[in-house]
Amino acid sequence: MLLWFRNDLRTHDNPALHYFLSQPDSEKPRKAVFFVCEKQWQKHDWSPIKIDFIKRHAHALVKELALLNIELELIEADDFTQQKEYLSDYCQRHKITKVVANSEVEFNEQQRDKELCSKLKASGSSLTLFEADVIVPKGKVLNKSAIMYKVFTPFKRAWLTYVQQAGFEYLGKVSSSSVSIALPSHSTNTNKECESQKSLSSTWPLATFFEQKILPSFYQDKISSYKHNRDIPSVKGTSGISPYLAAGVISPRYVLTLLLNKYPDLLLAADSEEFSWLNEIIWREFYRNLIFHEPRLSKHQCYKENYQDMRWDNDVTLFNAWCQGKTGYPLVDAAMRQLNQTGWMHNRLRMVVASFLTKHLLIDWRLGEKYFMQHLIDGDLASNNGGWQWAASTGCDAQPYFRIFNPIRQSERFDPTGIFIRKYIPELKSISDKAIHFPHQYIDDNKLNIYWPAIVEHKEARLKALAFYKV
Ligand SMILES: Cc1cc2nc3c(=O)[nH]c(=O)nc-3n(C[C@H](O)[C@H](O)[C@H](O)COP(=O)(O)OP(=O)(O)OC[C@H]3O[C@@H](n4cnc5c(N)ncnc54)[C@H](O)[C@@H]3O)c2cc1C
Repeated sequence: MLLWFRNDLRTHDNPALHYFLSQPDSEKPRKAVFFVCEKQWQKHDWSPIKIDFIKRHAHALVKELALLNIELELIEADDFTQQKEYLSDYCQRHKITKVVANSEVEFNEQQRDKELCSKLKASGSSLTLFEADVIVPKGKVLNKSAIMYKVFTPFKRAWLTYVQQAGFEYLGKVSSSSVSIALPSHSTNTNKECESQKSLSSTWPLATFFEQKILPSFYQDKISSYKHNRDIPSVKGTSGISPYLAAGVISPRYVLTLLLNKYPDLLLAADSEEFSWLNEIIWREFYRNLIFHEPRLSKHQCYKENYQDMRWDNDVTLFNAWCQGKTGYPLVDAAMRQLNQTGWMHNRLRMVVASFLTKHLLIDWRLGEKYFMQHLIDGDLASNNGGWQWAASTGCDAQPYFRIFNPIRQSERFDPTGIFIRKYIPELKSISDKAIHFPHQYIDDNKLNIYWPAIVEHKEARLKALAFYKV
């Protein structure tokens, strides 16, 4: 039997690994593989920081698995075609009759698995898949007509009922035996590259540290003020768990298990501060279910089909200004600089910049979606697509098209004294708290200054967007 790691580089609550260890196998050490698949990842717009983060976890897992007497081989492959060829060849050479892995929800990954299944079957082998990326198995939460919900709130209610009635299967951490084997000396290139790029994602500790230290301390100290603080980008009021969930190095079932250990009545406490955090975890489940039921979302099609052929302006100069954080709207610009400098962006700001790109600049949400994927450490097709289509009003349970964030008002509400703006735009350090939200023009010493030139005027852009969306 061969264990194939994909978006699940963890020993904790990993169904494929649990199954693998529960089966008798004569081979010692047992074999596992992970493909370092740079070209394929780039095709999927994975950012360098995400790739670095994943490689760090792959190398850590090699050591962790060695303690379980499993030799994890990190194999360089260009793309999914090479993965299929390698696996089918490997099974034939080593007379392996079963490959086990955890499923991936995205379209190309599903296609690859289908094709590999046929290939393996032809040579007397098989691929067995488990599910590790959600709390409730995808496809279990359905409406009365047995189809996926089109609105989040009823999905959430049904999801909560399912968890209360059926529970969820949390497998825990596999225990390591005392036997350890010599570490394999494979993939030296990957190793070197990983070390030289280490700084890219090194502000994000490994998952084992996050789940043992940071997550419990978030539950202890911050979750009870989450509802209030989650919208203020200058406060570290959110968990920062997204890179770990997106890369599959922390299990969502572990996250909920730990949460329910601390707050046993949480599923019934919908008004509590703590529940508002769980609510976001359920949004993640919603988007993963959506992409599972609607594979066309993986191909970046609009959820609402009548929005598919919108004639976006797609002005290159405006798009570049947005990317570089030079729109003249300081909250938008600071947010884009946060993304460019750190590989992460606060959720409130993701909503603001996505709304600005689509509705103020009339640029296709798919360009923003791609730019986010290329820069985010937590880039995740389902959540990113969901977030962009929500903001662009083309998605499932999206923002209505006529709701257009005013970026100045958002700035006044969520960064009232400009702390966040000043952090990422030092050029605006000396501007007053009042003027900082739109310092395009301000009067100083009776003189009119153009300080932070705006690329579009809000009121005009809003009217243009309303007319555009109406058509
Ligand atoms: C335009 C846009 C693009 C986005 N792209 C991504 C992406 O590529 N990857 C990603 O993980 N999230 C994405 N999000 C959702 C959200 O912004 C991030 O999950 C969140 O900012 C991560 O920070 P955190 O872990 O501190 O979140 P917390 O507030 O602590 O939330 C905990 C977890 O809940 C989930 N979550 C929170 N908000 C959402 C949401 N709106 N939709 C789905 N899941 C959510 C995430 O897994 C998150 O880690 C996007 C949102 C928008 C509006």
